[in-house]
Amino acid sequence: MTYRREEHTMIPESDLEGVSVDTLAVRAGQIRTGQLEHSDAIFPTSSFVYGSAAQAAARFGGDEPGNIYSRFTNPTVQAFEARIAAMEGGERAVATASGMAAILSTCMALLQSGDHVVCSRGVFGTTNVLFQKYMARFGVETSFVALTDLDEWQQAIRPETKMLFIETPSNPLCEVADMAALAKLAHAADALFVVDNCFCTPVLQRPFEFGADIVIHSATKYLDGQGRCIGGVVVGPNRLMDEVYGFLRSAGPTLSPFNAWVFLKGLETLPIRMRAHCENALELATWLQQQVGVERVYYAGLKSHPQHELAASQQTGFGGVLSFTVTGGQDKAWAFIDATRMISITANLGDVKTTITHPGTTTHGRLSPDDKAHAGITDNLIRISVGIESIDDLKVDLKRGLAALSA
Ligand SMILES: *Cc1c(COP(=O)(O)O)cnc(C)c1O
Repeated sequence: MTYRREEHTMIPESDLEGVSVDTLAVRAGQIRTGQLEHSDAIFPTSSFVYGSAAQAAARFGGDEPGNIYSRFTNPTVQAFEARIAAMEGGERAVATASGMAAILSTCMALLQSGDHVVCSRGVFGTTNVLFQKYMARFGVETSFVALTDLDEWQQAIRPETKMLFIETPSNPLCEVADMAALAKLAHAADALFVVDNCFCTPVLQRPFEFGADIVIHSATKYLDGQGRCIGGVVVGPNRLMDEVYGFLRSAGPTLSPFNAWVFLKGLETLPIRMRAHCENALELATWLQQQVGVERVYYAGLKSHPQHELAASQQTGFGGVLSFTVTGGQDKAWAFIDATRMISITANLGDVKTTITHPGTTTHGRLSPDDKAHAGITDNLIRISVGIESIDDLKVDLKRGLAALSA
């Protein structure tokens, strides 16, 4: 197909073959209308009209492709889906109303009563609740295992196991999973290997290259990157995504065109933002390690991290999230947090603004004391999602926290 500038509505995929993820983030999936707008168009409409009754019938019958109703067909949402699918290197993406809706839709579409899931223990708290409380109600049982212990994974797999689910690096301790090894285990058991790639984004890590079957994102985090919208996306082969899309069409946890448009704008700057996040985080992690009052820093970019080599072999950067323990207990951790003035005290992450939180009483507050101990969530642990402010200004603010430790 020749690419005719005056006519095109969507940049043909063939023109973007072999380009880097940086270019795909800016160019892939754009749909141009007859106005030939340079920036992505937004289509805030619930339904679409047809030229005739016969065309309406053809659309509904699936004989003619085209838009019908924005619960399941919207051009802005499709542009976002096409862009993220290209960036992850997957066949198809299905956008959802939130990251949790992406995980729920994947489970509802691909699991059924009697199936079993093995999930890493350190996953996002709400993901844990979804599996433990809600999926269990529908007859899907979940076993939780240590992210990095392959023997534990192997032992947890049963004949009914249909899915292995992970996040890597983990939140908040930055543990790193060996994706190729887990993919092998999953496939030997005829199970799907699902990776929540929220922390790295396709700019830093592309799980399909290590054998993942499905990649999930909370677009709320780095994909937007500026804290504006809630959304999610599931990426995978057509045969699986047809099922996820079918569930979405029937159940309706759909991404709105406005949010899709914001995410399209967010993706354009994702590669340069991720590089800035990584650079600041590595610098802060290294600096924190040298400060009096800091016990231990958890960041896979540090040579002292037990899985530094593995992280380096799977990721092109170590991400923007780090955590550390301070000398003392919860009172000292809270005092540190409260002494900062510029950094936002919020549990959100993946924002250009640096955020700080106490996992033990926020993101991981719902875990039992036993589960906390197992997950390494101690009272003196603090998590920082490092933004793109000046590193010097971040240090000035964190020094206020350090000073509060000895107060
Ligand atoms: C935030 C988050 C989710 C959930 O996404 P929402 O958009 O808040 O629903 C899932 N996984 C990870 C790793 C997250 O950080």
